[in-house]
Amino acid sequence: MFERILIMAPHTDDGEFGCGGSIARFIEEEKTIFYAAFSSAEVSVPPEFPSDSLVKEVKRAINVIGIKEENLIILDFEVRKFPEQRQEILDMMLKLKEEIKPDTIFLPSPNDTHQDHRTVYEEGFRAFKDTTMFGYELPWNNLTFNTEAFVLLREEHIDKKIAAISEYTSQKDRLYSKPDFIKGLAKTRGVQIGTNFAEAFEVVRWVL
Ligand SMILES: [Zn+2]
Repeated sequence: MFERILIMAPHTDDGEFGCGGSIARFIEEEKTIFYAAFSSAEVSVPPEFPSDSLVKEVKRAINVIGIKEENLIILDFEVRKFPEQRQEILDMMLKLKEEIKPDTIFLPSPNDTHQDHRTVYEEGFRAFKDTTMFGYELPWNNLTFNTEAFVLLREEHIDKKIAAISEYTSQKDRLYSKPDFIKGLAKTRGVQIGTNFAEAFEVVRWVL
């Protein structure tokens, strides 16, 4: 486990929000990380920005965090309509599984209420049920969150997460993009286990 890691993000920035600090740590430990974004969410780009802003931003963000560009997969499923495309999404995941052969998956939590996130969780579970799988935390979408697994982090990992998220200039006005929130959540998760910084995850599946 934790050698070939696939991060599944319904939209371009979900992976950085959910596990950006852990990605920074895994990169430091020379793990192989793949990042699949299922939508570049053109309709989510404010009118004053070019429609391909999120594609450019995700490339910059993964570069900041240290994922190789050849390990970034950007797909174009229509945002907010993932439930209608679930079969195509499942087929795509089965293809990713075949090509990447990941040993560990990070995906939205089973308690995520966003319809696109739910679809990635549900189809992700079907596609990768024989693989260790963690649900990441996005408090603004989570009905609740069970802090079942923790990744210990140092402040540099969280600073890298913040730097990656700050590349999403078209999305910078969101409350949860603010550095003090991101750092505060990492401190909260750290305090739960008596350390300074951490990210928490739900264990969807252990395969030992
Ligand atoms: Zn999202």
